[in-house]
Formats: sequence, structure tokens, C-alpha cells
Amino acid sequence: MDTAPAGKISRGPLPERVIRPEIRALSAYHVPDSRGLIKLDAMENPYGLPPALREEIAGLVAQAPINLYPDPAAPALKARLREAMDIPDAMDLMLGNGSDELIQVLALAVARPGTVLLGVEPSFVMYRMIATVTGMDYVGVPLRPDFTLDAEAMLEAIGRHRPALIFLAYPNNPTGNLFDAHDISRIIQAAPGLVVVDEAYHAFAGASFLPQLQRFPNLLVMRTVSKLGLAGLRLGLLAGAGEWLEQLEKVRLPYNVNVLTQLVAEKVLQHGDVLQRQAEAIKSQRAELKRRLEAISGVEAFPSDANFILFRLRHADEVFAGLRERGVLVKNLSHAHAALKDCLRVTVGTAEQNVKFISALEQSIIA
Ligand SMILES: *Cc1c(COP(=O)(O)O)cnc(C)c1O
Repeated sequence: MDTAPAGKISRGPLPERVIRPEIRALSAYHVPDSRGLIKLDAMENPYGLPPALREEIAGLVAQAPINLYPDPAAPALKARLREAMDIPDAMDLMLGNGSDELIQVLALAVARPGTVLLGVEPSFVMYRMIATVTGMDYVGVPLRPDFTLDAEAMLEAIGRHRPALIFLAYPNNPTGNLFDAHDISRIIQAAPGLVVVDEAYHAFAGASFLPQLQRFPNLLVMRTVSKLGLAGLRLGLLAGAGEWLEQLEKVRLPYNVNVLTQLVAEKVLQHGDVLQRQAEAIKSQRAELKRRLEAISGVEAFPSDANFILFRLRHADEVFAGLRERGVLVKNLSHAHAALKDCLRVTVGTAEQNVKFISALEQSIIA
């Protein structure tokens, strides 16, 4: 008779045997605890919605049919987005649970062994993470030391790797700059596959590739409402030719944009001037914050067309910790990439938050 020895209960397969090695080697996207801190680490809009609009939203939410699945086609919301973002009539739209999800949909649709996702370095970390998770090969072409695009290196990499997918953030995160539009056009023309121009920070930049969609059949433009002031809703969009989006729709999970997100986003976009005014305020605060940063000796602030500023200073780790002790959370990018050594990134906050940040920064440097 077979008796299991005490203490040797079978626990099933170990993660080491079952989970793919490239997943085990990843570190999860880290979101630090920000309770009690002035949160200037994640490019959120610091202004809330006006009370009257909140009331309207409360009424809508009270009536929302949350017992039913959402409409997967979301026609009302799409119509609002088209209007608010000037999407060319000839182009289709696909919605995502944040643009992060759209990156994943794109990768899932093209991934097979050996396909390459091409990006630049440093840029948005999700491109690399999602390439890895979906089993694609990731290739990152270094930016120049001043964070401009190295077009020749990109064209060379395109010729060598024949990427199925290229992502360019415009403006780029975490550097904040807009790449040269002519360079981007050359890249789109040379690409054998899709090029996605990720315009997460469009509201603060005033430059876009949406008008180029007609010209380039392999171009898609991605937007999100997150940085505009609705990060909590999780809503992103992809604009482009129907031939592409028709295929990508098969990969999208049908109910990815929930009932409440659809209702609330539609309502807020009806009052698009509210977010637009907030974006204008953020842009003027950005100029002020840049002046104040540059006035601090030893601080190099990089140009920004987004709602954050990347800056470099000595002892970035100590300064980051000092800021945190003084109640301000920024993003420490010092160890994210060799090109970002001694770099921190601060989101543009309200005038009051920015003053507190600058004062905490001065104290952290002196200390
Ligand atoms: C923040 C960010 C996103 C993610 O946006 P979500 O819609 O919130 O998922 C995408 N791309 C870039 C470049 C970003 O900085």
C-alpha cells in the first residue's frame, strides 16, 4: 500500500516549471505608495472637475445600466472623441482600456517567433514590456545624448530587423521632447510594417500626425484621455485605416471599455473646454516650473512639450529621497537607462504644488 509520507503533500507544478522564463525575468511595473505625498510622478492632471460637472456625472452614474454589458462599439463615445480630437472622417477608431491595452492588442496581433517591435531608448517602458510578454523581440535604438531621434540609426535598424511594429512617442516619455517630424515621416516610409505614433501628451504639445494618416497607409495614431485629466477612467484610442483596425478588432476583448467609462468620458468630452483650459494652465505652469528649475544651480532641465519636465542633477538618488521626506513624490529615472543617469522627472502640478516642489528640491540639494 502506498502511503504519502507526512509533510510531503504534492503542491502541483512550480512557477519555475510553468511560467515562461522571459516572464519570470521581468520585474512588474512598479507603482510606489503615494499616500500623503504630493504626487508628481505619473503625469496626472492635478485639477479636479468643476462641481457642477461632477453633479451631472453623479446623476449619470446613478442611472447607468451596470447590469448590462457595455456596447462594444461605443458609438456615442466614439462620435465625441472624433469631434474632440479632430479625427479625420475617413479614418476608423478603436478604443482600449487605456492606450496600454492598445499597445498589447497591436503586439498580440503581429507577434510570432522572431517578429520585432522597434522603439527608441529611452522611451515608454511598456513597449518593451509588452513585446516581451507577447513573445516578440524588442529592439531599442538609442536616442542621441540630447534625446533627439537618430534617424540614420533608426533607418539602419529598420533595414536590418524588418520590424512588424514601430512605436514612437510624440512627445516622448520620459524625455518630454517632440522628435523631428520629417525624421518620423522618413521612418514611416521606410518601415515594412506598422508605425504607431503615440500621442499621449498631445494636449500639451500642439503637434500631431493625425493629418498624416491619409498620406501613410502604414501609420496609426494613438491617443489617451489619461494625461488630459481622466487617468482613472482608463480610455485610449487608436485612429487609422479601417483595413488595419478591422483586423485589430478581432484581438480586442469585446467589453474592454466599461459602461461607466463610456458614460463619464462622453459627458466630460461634451464639456471639452474644461479639460482644454486645464491643459492651457498646465502649459503655463510648465514654463514657470522650467524657469524655476533652471534658476537652481547644478540643475539641467530638458525642453518639454509634455506635462512633465525631465531634469538632471548630481546625487539624484539622495535628492529623490530628500524630496520624498519632504512630502513630494517624483519619478527617479536615474537607474532606468544609462542615458538617464542622475535624472528625475517631475509632473507639472498646480502653482501651489510646484512651489512646494521647488522649495523641497532646494532644501534636498542643500542638505
Ligand atoms: C502614459 C502613457 C501611455 C499610457 O496611457 P494610458 O492610456 O493611461 O494607458 C501611453 N504612452 C505613453 C508614451 C505614455 O506616457
